[in-house]
Amino acid sequence: MKVLVIGGGGREHAICWALGRSKRVMEVVCAPGNAGIAENARCVPVDVGNLAAMVAVVEAERSALTVVGPELPLSLGVVDELIRRGFRVFGPKQAAARLETSKSFAKEFMRRNEIPTAAYAVCTTLDEVREELSRFSVPVVVKADGLAAGKGVVICQTHAHAEQAAAEMFSGVLLGVTETEVVIEEFLDGEEVSFFALCDGMHAVALAAAQDHKRVGEGDTGPNTGGMGAYTGDGLLSTEMEQWLLKNVAQRVVDEMAMEGTSFQGILFCGMMMVPRTDGTTQPMVLEFNTRFGDPETQAILVRLETDIVELFEAAIDGTADTLEIRTRPGASVCVIAASGGYPGKYASGLPIAGLDSVGDPDVVVFHSGTAVKDGTVVTAGGRVLGVTAVSRATALSSDTASGPGSKGGSSLWDALGKAYGAMQGISFEGMQFRGDIGWRALRDGL
Ligand code: AMP
Repeated sequence: MKVLVIGGGGREHAICWALGRSKRVMEVVCAPGNAGIAENARCVPVDVGNLAAMVAVVEAERSALTVVGPELPLSLGVVDELIRRGFRVFGPKQAAARLETSKSFAKEFMRRNEIPTAAYAVCTTLDEVREELSRFSVPVVVKADGLAAGKGVVICQTHAHAEQAAAEMFSGVLLGVTETEVVIEEFLDGEEVSFFALCDGMHAVALAAAQDHKRVGEGDTGPNTGGMGAYTGDGLLSTEMEQWLLKNVAQRVVDEMAMEGTSFQGILFCGMMMVPRTDGTTQPMVLEFNTRFGDPETQAILVRLETDIVELFEAAIDGTADTLEIRTRPGASVCVIAASGGYPGKYASGLPIAGLDSVGDPDVVVFHSGTAVKDGTVVTAGGRVLGVTAVSRATALSSDTASGPGSKGGSSLWDALGKAYGAMQGISFEGMQFRGDIGWRALRDGL
């Protein structure tokens, strides 16, 4: 079959790569793609902010299956438009994608359906913000309602800072767009985990758990980014916790969205904060939902996926996710992002990338996040440029105990990290930066 993927970042590169391994896929087309994706797919230009243009590409290609990667096309209703025209599409409809595209919708949905999340208030004016803030201690979190590419969350140490952040969201100074709603939220302390469920409108099934590294600097310091790296590992969530999240978060979302007439099909990404209780147990709380694969978690997840990815997409469309067997290679995986110097602030583009052919390890894949071809050379074309992704050796078991410094276990993760950082050494471009500590929490905890 012919499959068309909408998007052009590292996540879409990983999806195209996985489609390339499917026995059922004859051709992969990616719109718009990037220089790396062009090695796995035929790339066709499209503006992912233009609904009519995306529909036109699918109509011209007449793909048997279309997979929507990023949130922007989902927010514009590309799935609704394509289904209306009779195409098979993987991803949620516009109304279901509101779980991601509106923080106030998501918070209110969680409140009415008793899904654990931080206390909050939705405000539409600065006066309301001032009034509500008096109910929150510091630190306090201020969130823009709409899509903000990871930049719409400000953690504030004082009420004055929170008020300023909210004012800048309303005025458009912070994000370039004016927000009509701002969410004030209780600050939660704990470990973050991303839990991914595949949903078919009726069933949610566990796909994977991953941990992202959003801050630009090592030790989780500096400003937030789109993600500087991620890892997955068998020990990241216990079986009991995975079952708890599936039942009390993902399946409840699917059930209640169906009840409300906005059934959810696609990937539900549950951004969780695992908050420690005084009795030593953990209370998982939802920080956010995304309604698509995360980036860079997807790169780390898909290198371990053994099930044909087309089976996942079809089960979600056909309502058969409950019969799906999702097989994952045992062990761990990691994706380390090579970013442009200056990112997430100002950075240069168009810089030649050296060493892309230097990676000979079959357990390493270099996914392209932001690249282009200029005069026959692959050059940088974004803040995040490459995702150097590695999977631990095939024989690694989740229970292995050999380890690196300061760790009780985690040899699978060490193995994957060694491969990724080894490959990174051969790659360079002017100003390239990457975090050298991806997976540090897991190594510390001996996962
Ligand atoms: P979000 O886009 O809502 O996931 O927020 C981005 C990041 O901000 C999260 O990954 C957390 O690191 C942080 N964050 C968001 N909400 C909270 C909260 N209530 N308490 C603490 N940190 C938060």
